Amino acid sequence: MDIKIKNIHLFDPLSGIDEVGTLLVDKGKVVKGTGSSARKEIDGEGLYLFPGLVDVHSHFREPGAEDAETIESGSKAAVKGGYTSVCVMPNTNPPIDNEGVARFIKEKSEEVGLCRVFPIGTITKEREGKELSEMSHLYQAGCVAFSDDGDCVRNSGIMRNALEYSKLFDVPIIDHPEDISLSNKGQMHEGSVSAGLGFKGIPDVSESTVVARDILLSKFTRGRVHLAHVSAADSVKLIKQWKNDRVTSEVTPHHLLLSDELIKDFDSNKKMKPPLRTMYDVEVLQRAIKDGLIEIVATDHAPHPDYKKDIEFSEAAFGVTGLETSFAVLYTELVKKGKISLNVLIKVLTSSPARIFNLPFGEIKEGAIADFTIVDLKSNWKVAADVFASKSKNSPFLGWKLEGVVKYCIVDGRTVFENGDFKKKKK
Ligand SMILES: [Zn+2]
Repeated sequence: MDIKIKNIHLFDPLSGIDEVGTLLVDKGKVVKGTGSSARKEIDGEGLYLFPGLVDVHSHFREPGAEDAETIESGSKAAVKGGYTSVCVMPNTNPPIDNEGVARFIKEKSEEVGLCRVFPIGTITKEREGKELSEMSHLYQAGCVAFSDDGDCVRNSGIMRNALEYSKLFDVPIIDHPEDISLSNKGQMHEGSVSAGLGFKGIPDVSESTVVARDILLSKFTRGRVHLAHVSAADSVKLIKQWKNDRVTSEVTPHHLLLSDELIKDFDSNKKMKPPLRTMYDVEVLQRAIKDGLIEIVATDHAPHPDYKKDIEFSEAAFGVTGLETSFAVLYTELVKKGKISLNVLIKVLTSSPARIFNLPFGEIKEGAIADFTIVDLKSNWKVAADVFASKSKNSPFLGWKLEGVVKYCIVDGRTVFENGDFKKKKK
């Protein structure tokens, strides 16, 4: 037996487990029984064990912007936040528009040996929106979805072709829904707050018009569209009206918790795309998660170095980090405050993203791949720049006091994170 975890609160919405017990792992798989001895024993007294968290939307910046994040620092941030699997967006430099870059990311992340890293390939060559990338080659090289994230696929004909082609592999086409002709030069959500502060706005209709188009293109082609970082109430209404199993969506922790009112302090760590919207949008998004209409919470972890963020709001880059705060902010602000159940939270962070992205994780049962996250739900911590494993510190939650400390991450039956220490693979 490789690992025996005893006295642990096993919690898995998919298999319906919610009880204190023992979990055994051998050769990377969950095995039955109580077992006498194991090479590693963990006493889980007072701790919860969940299926390993899965993020379907992160930016690791390597290759190209290693001063913001690398595959190694991003992997550390992931496991520190409880994530055992992360899908990384292809807006690197060079972008993941060819097998070489996809393979580099797979190999580098295996060398790092912390979380699992799955590349997302571009929809178009060079992310230029003009010509489809070699999707079948990217798929064969390990890409689990396609996206030009950071930019919207403006040309509806290209989006149609991508959706048609993606049916060959049954993977989602992830759009970044933003009509740039409506959001152009905007700094924050367009409304009374932006008017008061004198910033050019990004109207919610810049998102919802593209959401409508992509839903209709999915219906027409029968391809799977996944809507990234939904932020606007009107987008949620459209999803509700047209929902089927080929239309899926995600929301970020920051859009679920923060509104544009907070930008009155001109903190550029609250600047991202799509922008923080109104309290009404926040409430609609929370309800959509609670009701299962939006299936996934994804971090949109977008690290930037200080010189791109620690400057005037209007000059600062768009994007915030999220991997290390996601679980704890959602647990503290939504579960502890009774807005959603722990069941819903674990589902939107594990089995739902795994299912939609065709990843074989998200469930604790006999024979399942041994990817787990072990959390102390009673411990507190304060979000501060010096606690991050990420190379970047641009979190909108700096200064917040949170409940929920990740104690262990286990990937493929191997402990990769334990009480604050990273355990890299032995060579
Ligand atoms: Zn995006």
